[in-house]
Amino acid sequence: MTVCTRFAPSPTGYLHVGGARTALFSWLYARKHGGRFILRMEDTDRERSSVESVNAILEGMTWLGLEYDEGPFYQTERFSRYREIVEQLLASGHAYLCYCTREELEARRAEQIARKEKPRYDGRCRERQSPREGVSPVVRFKNPLEGQVLIRDLVRGTVVFQNSELDDLILARADGTPTYNLTVVVDDMDMGMTHVIRGDDHLNNTPRQSNIFYALGKEPPVYGHVPMILGPDRQRLSKRHGAVSVISYREAGYLPEALLNYLVRLGWSHGDQEVFSVDEMIKLFDIADVNQSASIFNPEKLLWLNQQYIKKSEPAHIAHHLSWHLGRLGIDPSEGPDLIAVVQAQQERAKTLVEMAHNSVPFYRDFDGYEETAARKHLKASVREPLQDLRDRFEKAQCWEASTLHEILLATVERYELKLGKLAQPLRVAVMGRPISPPIDVTLELIGRERTLARIDQALAWMSHRETSTATPSGHETA
Ligand code: GLU
Ligand code: ZN
Repeated sequence: MTVCTRFAPSPTGYLHVGGARTALFSWLYARKHGGRFILRMEDTDRERSSVESVNAILEGMTWLGLEYDEGPFYQTERFSRYREIVEQLLASGHAYLCYCTREELEARRAEQIARKEKPRYDGRCRERQSPREGVSPVVRFKNPLEGQVLIRDLVRGTVVFQNSELDDLILARADGTPTYNLTVVVDDMDMGMTHVIRGDDHLNNTPRQSNIFYALGKEPPVYGHVPMILGPDRQRLSKRHGAVSVISYREAGYLPEALLNYLVRLGWSHGDQEVFSVDEMIKLFDIADVNQSASIFNPEKLLWLNQQYIKKSEPAHIAHHLSWHLGRLGIDPSEGPDLIAVVQAQQERAKTLVEMAHNSVPFYRDFDGYEETAARKHLKASVREPLQDLRDRFEKAQCWEASTLHEILLATVERYELKLGKLAQPLRVAVMGRPISPPIDVTLELIGRERTLARIDQALAWMSHRETSTATPSGHETA
């Protein structure tokens, strides 16, 4: 038997982290067992489904690298198939037409509540023989009245439901459109699903779906209901808790591996290992080891993981993702230093790619002004002379390499009997506009000779302008 799993989102919003974790677990299960993983858009709710949402889900899946072997399938393209199955169930006596009106159903419901009974459809039309004038019927499933449904669940073990607890659910509405429980069963059957991994908010649907499978003469798939992800307040994770869409993590500068790693650890562990490559996940992950209790989303831990991944990943891989962020800042990385070198210079410290992209801007684009406090502190009159001297030495440098530039800097501080920082910091502010950057020699190498010299000249000019203007109280600080 080839394992086949699926991710079946309803395209009514973005891909959120809970959905992404379900997708990841399903994907890992298929990959681990050499099986197939399919993507299915459950878009039958035409009001709430949208093309934008479909695209957002596809974008999220692609970014995470959760590639699917088949699909995306769209339920809206399968209506005739659902109709066919409804007819089949009607013909085999597993379904029937229900002519109860909304008003009648509501009245009965109110009575049940008044009698302190669980409100449910009372099965009134189960044996009805004749249609009712002027009422378009719905199609209901004839759920068995007795016995129990056993669900094989990889996370929870065997779960038992009593048929007496299940009422006759609607398979097709009065306008003929199929309902969720029907479409899922038809698709899971037609698409050959062997394992259905999904959120445990669907657990109550599973006995109903299982019964439909049996009515169709099929064995239901094996299930794995994974617990919800909660916010720190133990409420279901939602927008209130901050970023929850996968794409917002991309935009905030996370690496997809870091998010996958974080998600796999939500409800699953392997000893006390925290960092898992995707290959390790495939090898070690087992749905049977997933926790039964809900997990709490912890953004700090995700950020920590992201930093680990930025530190340890191949520079070329980071460069690939970083260039997307630079593009968002309007920067074309081909118009400046080698992006891989820019990554290498910053890998140790960056927590996110947004931070790294922001700090990379001066390597590619001239800046408009200095950070005010840094300029006030470091671009002082006393440093003009050594800075000018340093600039002239740089101009004569044999080659523009970090080690050479470092030597020149050392020789200059020696000559003026300065501490290294006393010249390196002003230099940094002069060439980067801010007091933070990779080691100064590496920074200079990346910026390049021409740009470095021009920026030092500009800083020197700014300093003399400032000297003359500090005499007047209105003199402004930034260039
Ligand atoms: N479309 C359903 C949802 O988004 C999932 C259905 C399923 O996994 O069976 O919640
Ligand atoms: Zn009825």
